[in-house]
Amino acid sequence: MGRFDGRVAIVTGAAQGIGAAIARRLADEGAQVGVIDLTAERAQGTADEIVKAGGAAIAVGADVSKTADVQAAVAAVAGEFGHVDILVNNAGITRDNLLFKMTDEDWDTVVTVNLRSAFLMSRECQKHFVAQKYGKIVSLSSRSARGNRGQANYAASKAGIMGLTSTLAIELGPFGVNVNAVAPGYIATAMTDATAKRVGFAPEDFQKASAEATPVRRVGTPEDIAAVVAFLAADESSFVSGQTIHVNGGADR
Ligand code: NAD
Repeated sequence: MGRFDGRVAIVTGAAQGIGAAIARRLADEGAQVGVIDLTAERAQGTADEIVKAGGAAIAVGADVSKTADVQAAVAAVAGEFGHVDILVNNAGITRDNLLFKMTDEDWDTVVTVNLRSAFLMSRECQKHFVAQKYGKIVSLSSRSARGNRGQANYAASKAGIMGLTSTLAIELGPFGVNVNAVAPGYIATAMTDATAKRVGFAPEDFQKASAEATPVRRVGTPEDIAAVVAFLAADESSFVSGQTIHVNGGADR
């Protein structure tokens, strides 16, 4: 018996990194998973891995910052598996720059992809959740929401996720829907490798420095985040709502 037997989950940005680990974890515990990324081809690798391991998944291409794509993607997953129970808003990007160099486009792109997408996906999925009086929404915030040099756009979008989360928890709680967020610290993925290179470090050196500054003396893995997302998507946490759980090895700054 898996915690997600009979459940259908959607994970956005699940072609790689944290999203792929979340999709695999939910599938390992019984969920049928809609693996969403910018193109179906990008998402296919994760869906194939899940199916190869004995699970059920489909790959769906969608730019989750676009309303029409979101509507089509949720309809595709509901059409394939019959319903939708769990939404994980994971898709996210960075366009780092100090304020005086940050362009309008840097701001708009990051806020749109990181925050508008969570609003659009949540609005689309709540139709299913409210009708069936059951649903779980887990969104990815970040430690950067507390402030991070060069990330005004990203930090604002991730702080926005916290406000969206606490508000949707109030609105949707009466309909059997739990809404929470996870705020990771440094997780070793393509995103943090790109940050390392941008500030002039080899990814290994950047990770080593981050591990030394972290109380548990290591950086996080995508699986560390997937474990907490799975807890928040499961029924055992059904009295937890409106929360942002920080998963950062104790590295608050
Ligand atoms: P990643 O760059 O490895 O993966 C992000 C995925 O999102 C990619 O597959 C990408 O194609 C997809 N994506 C981007 N824009 C999209 C769009 N418009 N529509 C659909 N898919 C889109 O990133 P990651 O490190 O795995 O991060 C995943 C999430 O966790 C992000 O929201 C990120 O902000 C957050 N996060 C990461 C860290 C970290 O240290 N890696 C820390 C805090 C928060």
